[in-house]
Amino acid sequence: MKVLKFGGSSVADADRIRKVGAIVRRAWSDGPVVVVVSALAGVTDELVGLADLATAAADTGDRVRRLEERHRRTLDELAPEDRGARDILDRTFAELARLVTGVAYIGDCPPAVRDRILATGERLSAPLVAACLRASGVAAEAVDGTEVIRTDSAFGGAAVDLEATREHAAPRLGAPDPHRVPVVTGFIGADPRGATTTLGRGGSDLSATVLGAALDAEAVEIWTDVNGIFTAPPRVVAGARPQPRVSYDEAAELARFGAAVLFTHTVAPVRERGIPVLVRNTFDPEGPATLVDAGPEVPRGARSLASVERAAAFTVRPAEPGGQAAPGVAAVAPRCLVACLAAASGAWTVVTAEADAAAVAAELEASGLVVERLGEASVVAVVGSSLLHQPWVAGRALEALGRRDLPLRAVVSPSEHSVCLVVDRADHARALAILHEALMLAHLAGRAADAARRDAALKGEGHAEPPHPGRRDRRHRDGRSAARPPAA
Ligand code: ASP
Ligand code: MG
Repeated sequence: MKVLKFGGSSVADADRIRKVGAIVRRAWSDGPVVVVVSALAGVTDELVGLADLATAAADTGDRVRRLEERHRRTLDELAPEDRGARDILDRTFAELARLVTGVAYIGDCPPAVRDRILATGERLSAPLVAACLRASGVAAEAVDGTEVIRTDSAFGGAAVDLEATREHAAPRLGAPDPHRVPVVTGFIGADPRGATTTLGRGGSDLSATVLGAALDAEAVEIWTDVNGIFTAPPRVVAGARPQPRVSYDEAAELARFGAAVLFTHTVAPVRERGIPVLVRNTFDPEGPATLVDAGPEVPRGARSLASVERAAAFTVRPAEPGGQAAPGVAAVAPRCLVACLAAASGAWTVVTAEADAAAVAAELEASGLVVERLGEASVVAVVGSSLLHQPWVAGRALEALGRRDLPLRAVVSPSEHSVCLVVDRADHARALAILHEALMLAHLAGRAADAARRDAALKGEGHAEPPHPGRRDRRHRDGRSAARPPAA
């Protein structure tokens, strides 16, 4: 069985949903599939805006009507006769109207209610994709994520309980009928009391790998609008190339440092079981793709660059000499990209995404620390397997930047799989270009062995082995999955 996940741009309108239908049909003719879908492109952003407007008691009528019109028109173009999908749309819009009215009435949108509003997007897209499949003769059925994915109650960014998910997902989706295609809403789950939760923005990727792990899928395919994971952000580095193959470690590190192609915690559920992930392009199904698996045995240099262009750097010191900054910094660490201590002075360098900067600085100050903003920064991460055992990589990177006189604010290795360089934001694109060339990343992406492995995986050959024997056993140690490890 395979899990196929389609992102928002893949299901943006009726034409694109038909392309998705064709991809699903092709996979389904080879064996059972479970489909996971995002909301139609832009819809979750719309719903966020809707929740905010309703909270401010502003008029939301137009926005709701536009959403409704878009989804109903799409259904009319795909399968006007499909009663099942129409019923789900009716129910979902009726619920959205009630939620928005309630929020406007009390002037507050508690996190649990907000999640129900945001979940609307996927609840509207799954029936459209299912209807498209049915119209082409595939017995498809929309399945609500709350039926199969179990989480804690951290609304807005819930952590998946993989054990509980397995209990619910296996009977519902791993059913004996291989001819039926479940189309599951990504992004959403249910807490132990059955309340709708969301996994965090972009979380549909995680829904797919969680279901892949819960159902012991042979592969998870993430269908998006680019040809896989690139050697560098393709919008910034003209010479960036799609990678035929990256390791789970590299993919996790790339997601953590801003690569938009995968949600942060996507690989955690599948890596322990050695389930391969393929990142493919809905609009170029036969074109280049990336295989994410345990990766080659022998680590070999830097493989990719990721970056957070809009970052902010701070120095953080205790107010009194001899005071401790560590507890305060630890409290904000999950929202930091980099935090490192200059032990001699007791001062920390803390780097966050710009979007988190104000809140993190305020929290640090509230815990009695002196916070000094260093300015507009970018974080560029050089990613590869076991980079610390290949110190020449960092050496070559620093030398290349040094020769071009590009100043650094900090150099940190947050794990053995990355070296992070904090640069002035004005130098972001130049730093990426220099590093991409100096580390010969475009050239490395052409390695024939990687491409051969990827092509075998695309054909369904050569299921990867778990990366380390014994990992499987550690998984259930505390009855919970590692699906959302803390982003230290
Ligand atoms: N629709 C959700 C979002 O836009 C989840 C996803 O697309 O992965 O964040
Ligand atoms: Mg995404």
